Amino acid sequence: MNASAPHAPNSFRAQPDDRGHFGQFGGRYVAETLMPLILDLEREYRAAKADPAFQAEFDDLLEHYVGRPSPLYHAERLSEALRTGVDAGMGAQVWFKRDELNHTGAHKINNCIGQILLAIRMGKTRIIAETGAGQHGVATAAVCARFGLPCIIYMGAKDVERQQPNVFRMKLLGAEVRPVTSGAKTLSDAMNEGLRDWVANVHDTFYIIGTAAGPHPYPELVRDFQSVIGREARAQMLARTGRLPDMLVAAIGGGSNAIGLFHPFLDDASVAMLGVEAAGHGLEGSEHAASLAGGFPGVLHGNKTYLLQDQDGQIAEGHSISAGLDYPGIGPEHAWLRDIGRVQYDSATDKDALDAFQLLCRTEGIIPALEPAHAIAAVSRHARTMRDDQIILANLCGRGDKDIFTVAAALGVAM
Ligand SMILES: *Cc1c(COP(=O)(O)O)cnc(C)c1O
Repeated sequence: MNASAPHAPNSFRAQPDDRGHFGQFGGRYVAETLMPLILDLEREYRAAKADPAFQAEFDDLLEHYVGRPSPLYHAERLSEALRTGVDAGMGAQVWFKRDELNHTGAHKINNCIGQILLAIRMGKTRIIAETGAGQHGVATAAVCARFGLPCIIYMGAKDVERQQPNVFRMKLLGAEVRPVTSGAKTLSDAMNEGLRDWVANVHDTFYIIGTAAGPHPYPELVRDFQSVIGREARAQMLARTGRLPDMLVAAIGGGSNAIGLFHPFLDDASVAMLGVEAAGHGLEGSEHAASLAGGFPGVLHGNKTYLLQDQDGQIAEGHSISAGLDYPGIGPEHAWLRDIGRVQYDSATDKDALDAFQLLCRTEGIIPALEPAHAIAAVSRHARTMRDDQIILANLCGRGDKDIFTVAAALGVAM
């Protein structure tokens, strides 16, 4: 890490400031009408954070409804496979945080539990959310059913077509799915529509945002709810091995599973961290979703961060084989962590992810989602350059049931 970064705070975990800034990023760029709501939400979140009863209910639901703690798993056969062709004594030990075993199949539910408890605490009676691939929509629909609250999910019309199984799951769980036909008809447009609904229905509606983005305090509260991943992993690793991992790796869409894993380790100077963006067909063209590698700072969805955009500041549409990674922005805390040098960011192409997906299936008997397959691709590259007594811990943030049709199509297999 870059310890000589200017104005480095004493703790990397002390951000954001009162107005939601992570360095120059974050903030709350919202319409006048939304400001009172955002302030209300922030006040209520501060109170909830300090309330042991709120924390106790959150922990209880994570244990008995979500299935936490998720296991920490030493992937010995994968580690061995990655050692082929490397010098003796090289090739790191790969471990996984098994968040793909959560109820609804990914990490998204951790955040949904936290936000719906906040909604109930605020007396809100109507829940809205945006979704891209449908994973956040399914997790939101599940917690709404669990608490008996009506649920409206905004989803780009193009995604509705591409993600039929998740659309049906949301409907089974009692949610209304509203296709969004503006713009590129994908996630970014669905999020605009969610923010619009919120402004129009401020009195009774709570907006459950699905990643560590949006106006302050969303990036902070989503991070806090997802940090259960890193807190568990840190304690589990110490208990199992007596030491901390040498490197953490996680895939980045908006950045919530990555910040959830990284945040509890940020002040552990010996732990390197790597966020992995989707390089799609390659970073040379425009067919990727790597906001840090291929974007520049701008304002979207209420916060300032790195965004994929054209010369005129028009938001560009991201591409990735993984629908969960094609958000054109990245959470503001990652933008800051990148600029101060505490976290490194890398990318993996569609092809890298497909190869890693198949490798994990065959070596460990685990079918990962295509999102963490990007992280595994980066693990494969980095493990070779590390010693065989070093530890890489990657977040296996979702399971691959939802992706088997996409993978079959990419491999040319008829189904
Ligand atoms: C939604 C999703 C992502 C991307 O979102 P982040 O906020 O970056 O975590 C990654 N993996 C899975 C399995 C997802 O469902």
